[in-house]
Amino acid sequence: MINLYGVEIKKLEDMMTREGQKPYRATQLYTWMFEKNATSFDQMSDVSLKFREVLKANFSLEIPSIFIRQDSADGTIKLLLELADGAKVEAVLMRYSYGNVICVTSQVGCNMGCSFCASGLLRKTRNLEAHEMVGQVLVMNNLLREEGQGQRVTHIVVMGTGEPFDNYDNVLDFVRIANHPKGFAIGARHITVSTCGLPDRIRQYAREGLQINLAISLHAPNDEIRSRIMKINQVYPLDKLMPAVKEYERLAGRRVTFEYILLDGVNDSVEHADELAKLIKGTLAYVNLIPYNPVIENAYRRSSDEKVHAFLDRLTRLGVTATVRKEFGTDIDAACGQLRAKNVHEEKR
Ligand code: SAH
Repeated sequence: MINLYGVEIKKLEDMMTREGQKPYRATQLYTWMFEKNATSFDQMSDVSLKFREVLKANFSLEIPSIFIRQDSADGTIKLLLELADGAKVEAVLMRYSYGNVICVTSQVGCNMGCSFCASGLLRKTRNLEAHEMVGQVLVMNNLLREEGQGQRVTHIVVMGTGEPFDNYDNVLDFVRIANHPKGFAIGARHITVSTCGLPDRIRQYAREGLQINLAISLHAPNDEIRSRIMKINQVYPLDKLMPAVKEYERLAGRRVTFEYILLDGVNDSVEHADELAKLIKGTLAYVNLIPYNPVIENAYRRSSDEKVHAFLDRLTRLGVTATVRKEFGTDIDAACGQLRAKNVHEEKR
């Protein structure tokens, strides 16, 4: 059985043609799935009974189920979702003034081993399929629809558990489905993929012809610190990462966002800001400073507000565009770096 929600529309057209159908069937199915919110093939009244049987025999429309829902005082929703094989992943919905942003998980667990992040505490057990990422958006859209007022997910960040570029093909299918006018129809500029910095995949992404935003988890101004806090830097140090970023900027014609977590006493001095400005000179990049969110299992501390502001001021004075990321859902462990792939034996709370 193939889950239809993960079949990118061009691939679906090819499948339909192979089944002896007209390619427009793909658009027709997408309309039922993404616009009319059909939950079964029987609802697809303009599809012949005979072909509905063919669809039922080959495809499913299953979506993840909600295992636990947590609501934050600020309106953030965190869901622990159960997938068909029992694996559990988290997805978060944040309400910005400009729209509803979903943070999507791309893998069950993560192998990147960043020392400050909770998501890597459980090793990767598998990649998510495209339909399982689409499913996270569908489940949130269902909740938003219940709230009324025509609410829906308007922005996507692939910044949940996992390294999206370690699951490249499925993540690309997912963002294409999200972006397609017959899919979620979310504009490319409203979708962001975040990577810890895999140079080959960044170069590949640069050639996809996509306008989808790219964010790079940089977090350090030099190799010494970066290798200490991010294992991936021991494999792909800055002299491998930065040229890939520049190639992306050149080929895609887009700037990246550098994410930079401020860790007290580790990477948050004004000298580090100077070094950071120098490192990213020659890129068009913009820096998003992230206040560290506590993870019980590690010993880092959050930088004081004064230090955060001194860091921001210094970057700004050096001509680097920088902002401090707004925080959501800290009271329900839904903030950056706090998402986990819950293990299957965990008790329902
Ligand atoms: N693996 C990808 C996608 C995850 S994005 C990546 O590394 O980019 C999640 C973002 O939250 C990353 O920028 C990550 O570095 C950041 N993050 C991780 N742990 C954090 C913590 N404890 N506090 C704040 N941000 C954190």
